[in-house]
Amino acid sequence: MTPEQTKRSGQCLCGAVKYQATLLEEGVHVCHCTLCQKWHGGPGMAAGCDGDWSIQGEENLTWYASSDWAKRGFCKTCGSHLLFKTNDASYHGIAAGTLDNLDGFKIESHIFVDKKPSYYDFNDNAPRLTEEEFLKMVGEHTS
Ligand SMILES: [Zn+2]
Ligand SMILES: [Zn+2]
Repeated sequence: MTPEQTKRSGQCLCGAVKYQATLLEEGVHVCHCTLCQKWHGGPGMAAGCDGDWSIQGEENLTWYASSDWAKRGFCKTCGSHLLFKTNDASYHGIAAGTLDNLDGFKIESHIFVDKKPSYYDFNDNAPRLTEEEFLKMVGEHTS
């Protein structure tokens, strides 16, 4: 995939915050961790992107430090959850539902599946990683 194909735009519900970002893949990682459950009101669905995103209406974006290693960005007018970044800039993610176009996307993986509440399930065949397996894969951090 060329950068042009993975360059995507998105925005919050009210349109006060807009962004363009180059995605790492046309795929979404579903996070079932307790922080995502609280923040999104359900599982988090994130599309990874490079750190070179551009944001319009940044004054409407509030960053919340959800842990001592990552921050979550939301629109302070409509409350849409938009962006996620680690403090060391090793990961940048976009809340998938805020992208303008999700054609061709698929689920790449599920993480923190051992934290998933029992009331829902996904029926895709993507890999499923527990917290321990995920942390082993990324090599550091806790939720
Ligand atoms: Zn908004
Ligand atoms: Zn999570």
